[in-house]
Amino acid sequence: MTPRIIITAAAWNLGLDTEEGAPEKPLFEAQCTSCGHSSGATEGRRLPAEAWALKHTGERPGHRSFRAIQTSFWRVTPAPGNPYASEVAE
Ligand SMILES: [Zn+2]
Repeated sequence: MTPRIIITAAAWNLGLDTEEGAPEKPLFEAQCTSCGHSSGATEGRRLPAEAWALKHTGERPGHRSFRAIQTSFWRVTPAPGNPYASEVAE
């Protein structure tokens, strides 16, 4: 007997996470690629990370490369017609 595989599809939407507790704006952070030290993340403002990178190089002239990290949060929600549309997310 041939196994039967049933594939179903449901519509989902992907967008920015606007749930309570989610950051409203992107997080910005700079991380030194030489030593791994980080500016820490600030919400919605990249200037603190940029200023931290400049200060870090000023204090350690050999540390001149940084990973610029911008983090946004997404949420997947059921689209109309999706069987999960009427359920409350956990
Ligand atoms: Zn460093």
